[in-house]
Amino acid sequence: MARVADERREPPADPRRRVPSTTLLLGDPRLSEASARLGRTVVKAAVATAQQAVREGRIGPDDAVGAALAALPAHAAGLRPVHNATGVVLHTNLGRAPLSPSALEAMAAVGGYTDVELDLATGRRAPRGRSAMAALREAVPAAEAVHVVNNGAAALALAVATLAAGCEVLLSRGEFVEIGDGFRIPELLASCGARIREVGTTNRTRLDDYADAAGPDTGFILKIHPSNFTVSGFTQGVDAGELAALDLPVVVDIGSGLLRPDPLLPDEPDASTMLRAGATLVTASGDKLLGGPQAGLVLGRADVVERMRRHPLARALRVDKFTLAALEATLRGPEPPVHAALHLPLPQLRTRTLRLAGYLARRGLDARVVPCEAVVGGGGAPGTALPSCAVSLPDGLAAPLRTGEPAVLGRVVRGRLLLDLRCVPDACDGDVLAAVLRAAGR
Ligand SMILES: *Cc1c(COP(=O)(O)O)cnc(C)c1O
Repeated sequence: MARVADERREPPADPRRRVPSTTLLLGDPRLSEASARLGRTVVKAAVATAQQAVREGRIGPDDAVGAALAALPAHAAGLRPVHNATGVVLHTNLGRAPLSPSALEAMAAVGGYTDVELDLATGRRAPRGRSAMAALREAVPAAEAVHVVNNGAAALALAVATLAAGCEVLLSRGEFVEIGDGFRIPELLASCGARIREVGTTNRTRLDDYADAAGPDTGFILKIHPSNFTVSGFTQGVDAGELAALDLPVVVDIGSGLLRPDPLLPDEPDASTMLRAGATLVTASGDKLLGGPQAGLVLGRADVVERMRRHPLARALRVDKFTLAALEATLRGPEPPVHAALHLPLPQLRTRTLRLAGYLARRGLDARVVPCEAVVGGGGAPGTALPSCAVSLPDGLAAPLRTGEPAVLGRVVRGRLLLDLRCVPDACDGDVLAAVLRAAGR
């Protein structure tokens, strides 16, 4: 009681420091809407930030709601959307393939309960993801059976565990591939219990080399597509069709997930061609050239795929309902963004680029259109450059664009920031324009 009396005698508090209560602030309709969207903990943290600013006299009490709103994150998760203006179509650091609107819609539709493993007609258990599997089988008629796991590496791991645990895998010395971030495919094979038998040399491997190495301990012959480097000059390899003649299982890791040949990428192997040539099994990623969700595709002979599906490890590698939904929508739905970006006609890209540069130049920015090269990136068609064009800007804009909302990522080349719109959906050109103007303070 004495304390209260003491406080009463203190001079009236500076009105700037009258801190609105947490309850009062959380009751503001805009902040309670944000609680529903982002969660109460996140909003309370933003409110605390605003209250601190009032306490320190940096803002007045009436500005507390505005400050709390400004302190809120834009999204419920820390991952932020990025406009990819790098000209790298499959950018692993940007999550590889962007999904089509129909794949996104399919994912949203199964967010609640869904019949992923239930036949609603009979009320009985049903094969998991059967419609996605059917879509994949229809897309590759040369495959007797298909299976889907978590990613390309998982597909290969499951193939090794099923066909070559404790056995040898024959692999050409030219196909000892590091896929990225320090991960090496031979080490992956070894970690699954296979011994690797090196065949041939870095630049030349012949059918005889495989035949000489084959024996009772051979689990299978592995072909790995060198998806992130090229070897040129005095080279020779053996294709899946020739290897099939050795009467051993042939597993082809094509990496990219091309299901059929693409004339734009003549050197990129595809699943249909490999299976028709005699491969026992093809493994691939779902989020590279196929343009779908992260997934590992397994396609091939029915008995082998069935053994993989029933292997205990398969349960540890299985995909969720979102992957199944997005994969099916990618396979059955409209052209995925990756395909559209790769096949975008240059005149169309030039028109959009000229328009963007024109707007920016009229607002006083040093913006011009320059020719450049885009690449497939992310483990696909390493030798292929796509003629492209970009808006060239002062490189000082790179950092504010990268850290802005939405983030725009370009490429700095010789002191200029290049924005290649190839991988930006054309509906988002206006967003990029607004972001550049903001970054430049216009
Ligand atoms: C990308 C790639 C992989 C790994 O696939 P993830 O889906 O990233 O696990 C394996 N092999 C090849 C040839 C690849 O290109």
